[in-house]
Parts: sequence; structure tokens; C-alpha cells
Amino acid sequence: MSGTVLIVEDEPKLASLLAEYLRSSGFEPFCLESGTEVVPWVREHTPNLILLDLMLPGRDGMDICKDIRTFSRVPIIIVTARIEEIDRLLGLELGADDYICKPFSPREVVARVKAVLRRTSDGQAIQVPGLVLDESRYLATLKGHALDLTAVEFKLLYFLAANPGRIYGRQQLMNKIYPDDRTVSDRTIDSHIKKLRRKMEAADPEAKLIHSVYGVGYKFEPGAQ
Ligand code: CA
Repeated sequence: MSGTVLIVEDEPKLASLLAEYLRSSGFEPFCLESGTEVVPWVREHTPNLILLDLMLPGRDGMDICKDIRTFSRVPIIIVTARIEEIDRLLGLELGADDYICKPFSPREVVARVKAVLRRTSDGQAIQVPGLVLDESRYLATLKGHALDLTAVEFKLLYFLAANPGRIYGRQQLMNKIYPDDRTVSDRTIDSHIKKLRRKMEAADPEAKLIHSVYGVGYKFEPGAQ
């Protein structure tokens, strides 16, 4: 397994110990000590998982967790120093994916990180740098900004993004999106693509992800012209 793991922990020794264990298991750890830095960092870097301590300088972990959930489904494991707190936290429905109590063994944390990633990737959220598509919730975010797509726009983007680099004709895309053989004009796809691009550009002006292939149709390709 691999991916970026954000460690939010204000005890530097503990943070570097966790980072060391995660790195030796193939992850790319990044540590933040202050609560106020977390949300902007997550918006910019789209980590694959967050280990979030609750008691932090600057901003409370619960607050951070709730804030992140307004724009991202990134897996979050909450770390708390009090085992009796876990019941209360569960009741608050913060949207965290798991809870770990201090003191813990770094080995256990790595095992939990892997388990949460395995579980959450079942929904097959597609991740290309900066773009997160969560099919179970029809939720799309680009560089941390929610795209607010219609169901048709989401399906279109999801299908294209799941098959990067492949060119699809308008008819193929229509069959994919309207499986009930509804009669829709070729122009319908063009109009959906246009809206999709506009929404993505509003979130990230540099985003050139859906490309027109002259006379054929469209393809999804990050980094292509
Ligand atoms: Ca702490």
C-alpha cells in the first residue's frame, strides 16, 4: 500500500515515530503540529488519509474533522488520549472512519491505516491528483472545492476519469449515461461536457482534464493539452 498520510500531532517525538513506521510501510507521511494549518493543507494536497489528534494547539481536532467533511471524504482516523472519550465521539457523528486511543503501538496504527484504506477504497473513489470522485455519494471535489455536479455530469466525469486516455465518441458516452435508450441528441453530450468543464475551471483554472478529440469525441487525460 502507498499514499500520503497526514499526521496531525503536536508531540514531535510521537509524530516522528509514526512517520518513521508509516514510511517503512511504503507510505509518504507529512506532519503538522498546529490545528490551524490542517484544513488549508488538506485542501491543497489532498492526502490519502489523515491521522488526527484531538487535543491540538490552535484548533480542536473535532472542529477540524467536521470542517474537512464539508468538502472531502478523505479517510480520517481520530487519535484521542482518553478511551472513555471514544463513546462520546461516536455519538457526535463527526464523520471519522476510525478511532485510536493513546498510548498506542506504532505497529497498531499502521495496521489501522491499512485497514481503513482497504475499507474506504471499496467505494472505488477515483483519485487523480487534486480530483476526488466518490461514486457512493455522487460527490466530486477538485483541489478541495466541491464541484456541485448534476447526476448526469457526475456519471460522465466518473466514466471518463475511470478510463483515462481512452477516446469515446458521443454515442458511446450517451449509451453509458442514458442506458434506457432515451433519444437524446449528440449535442446533449457537448452541453454536459461544457458545463462540466466550466465547473472544473471555476474550482481550478488550470484544470484541463477533459479534452475534445476533433471529429471523434472526448477523452479524460490529466496533464495533456
Ligand atoms: Ca495532542
